[in-house]
Amino acid sequence: MSGDHATVAEEEYLQIMCWLEEAGLPITGANVARAMQLSPPTVHEMIGRLERDGYVLRADDKSISFTDEGSEHARAIVRRHRLIERFLTDVLGIPWDEVHEEAERLEHAMSPVLEARMLAAIGDAKTCPHGHPIQGGQRIEGVPLADAETGAKVRILRFENEAEELLHLFKREGLEPGRHGVVAAGDDDEVIVEFDGATANLTRSVAETVSVLADPSPPPRIALPEQLVLSKDRYGR
Ligand SMILES: [Zn+2]
Ligand SMILES: [Zn+2]
Repeated sequence: MSGDHATVAEEEYLQIMCWLEEAGLPITGANVARAMQLSPPTVHEMIGRLERDGYVLRADDKSISFTDEGSEHARAIVRRHRLIERFLTDVLGIPWDEVHEEAERLEHAMSPVLEARMLAAIGDAKTCPHGHPIQGGQRIEGVPLADAETGAKVRILRFENEAEELLHLFKREGLEPGRHGVVAAGDDDEVIVEFDGATANLTRSVAETVSVLADPSPPPRIALPEQLVLSKDRYGR
């Protein structure tokens, strides 16, 4: 019943639930199954285990919420994930499109002492290399790049979906958190953004996963569950 004894699998679920919550999506079995690309029965069973272990509560309408312990544990995993990614890019010099999977492996095996050392090593960095705040409560909302109108100035805030195939694509196209650009064109299929010396051509489904600050800004909207995890066949390229 202690948060110190969550299994790796439990921690993966807690992490995904935390991502859903951050994106403003309801924590439901269906959204977890979609995000983790697992079957609903598999997810149902694991959520039962998380409930028995005291990490989540299930309401009569099947909606899931964190217990205090679950929330704390989930946030700790997410924080470590982002910290490790930043350490790998800034201290070890690994390209930012290659650190997510490494962090997935390392985040479960980190002691508080190592975490404190890593935090000291990254200096002033406040986000993972994909734009997600390392500490909770510092997320700037933003809008999906797909919603920005042609001519809008945009600043990339973060990549909501960290699937590495998608990160490789962003790197190739010249996208990076903090970079400024202008939406040059957009239609039902594609969004084209011009950056200093680079032009990014993104399918609309990929542009859905990039959060930006836009001027003029479209109205904010809640993420779509598909934004968090897209399977490769939906990248469309
Ligand atoms: Zn990551
Ligand atoms: Zn990241």
